[in-house]
Amino acid sequence: MAYVIAEPCIGTKDTACVDACPVDCIHPSKRESEYETAQQLYIDPVECIDCGACVPVCPVSAIFAGDDLPDKWKQYAEINAKHYGR
Ligand code: SF4
Repeated sequence: MAYVIAEPCIGTKDTACVDACPVDCIHPSKRESEYETAQQLYIDPVECIDCGACVPVCPVSAIFAGDDLPDKWKQYAEINAKHYGR
C-alpha cells in the first residue's frame, strides 16, 4: 500500500518530501501554480514505489506507510488518491 500524507501537512506544506521522492509522485511542488491554493500535499498511490524516503524529511511527521496510518487519519488514503483521480 502506498504512502499517505495526513493532517499535519495542512497549513505546513513544507515540500522537503517533494525533493526526496525519487519518482516525483508528491504534488503540488512550490513550482506548481496549484501550490498556493492546495490545502496539503498529496502522494499519487499508483506512482509511489513505497521507498519511504519522504518520511524522515517531513518536519511535522505527516507521512505514513498506508498500513501504518493512525486510525484518526485513515481517510487520508482516499484524500491522497482522489487528488489524482485514482
Ligand atoms: Fe515518493 Fe518513496 Fe515517499 Fe512513495 S514512499 S511518496 S515513492 S518518497
